[in-house]
Amino acid sequence: MIIKNKSSDITWHRPIISREDRQQVNGHRSAILWFTGLSGAGKSTLAHAVEERLHRMGCSTYVLDGDNVRHGLCADLGFTSDNRTENIRRVGEVAKLMIDAGLFTLTAFISPFRSDREGVRGMVMPHEFIEIYCQCGVDVCEARDVKGLYKRARIGEIKNFTGISSPYEAPFKPELVVNTADQTIDACVDQVFTYLLDHDLVSSKR
Ligand code: ADP
Repeated sequence: MIIKNKSSDITWHRPIISREDRQQVNGHRSAILWFTGLSGAGKSTLAHAVEERLHRMGCSTYVLDGDNVRHGLCADLGFTSDNRTENIRRVGEVAKLMIDAGLFTLTAFISPFRSDREGVRGMVMPHEFIEIYCQCGVDVCEARDVKGLYKRARIGEIKNFTGISSPYEAPFKPELVVNTADQTIDACVDQVFTYLLDHDLVSSKR
């Protein structure tokens, strides 16, 4: 979603150092690895595990994590549909800045609405947005109940809870589907790396 500038008195300042310059120093391209799926599907676990491996290879990385962002940048937002959309728009804008900074930017957000995710995809170049669907049914997520939220949602203590009282729209054509219900974490991380290697985002020589 493009928001019109409130002020007409602003002019884009062309930087001297470009994204390509920064990528050259880093020795790799930058991209957004957008993990989406239900609460408890494994988005944070995978995003941080993939970041760890990239970091050990010497890549520049950052994880934008749903709960963490809601402590600051998005502390004013709740979980209504409008607030979720605004949450994802802001995260998309931050991720866009980060890929401009030359980083692998990994995001862990339920991001339940297809149109919001497609909105972020539209903010960057086509090859820069890699949507990774953490496929894990609500039954498995609920059995894990990592943060005890499903239990609270079931008894009505939490409203608008994705998968229980708010919808989740699975991607139609994600770049990658990882089966986080049945595979090990390591197998999922390997799958993400295979994608990155196959698409020349990382090199096996690093
Ligand atoms: P989310 O960020 O999607 O809400 P979390 O990463 O916080 O989910 O929690 C996922 C939980 O599932 C963790 O306890 C993790 O250890 C477990 N888990 C089991 N298998 C996997 C897997 N293949 N990928 C990711 N997480 C997994």
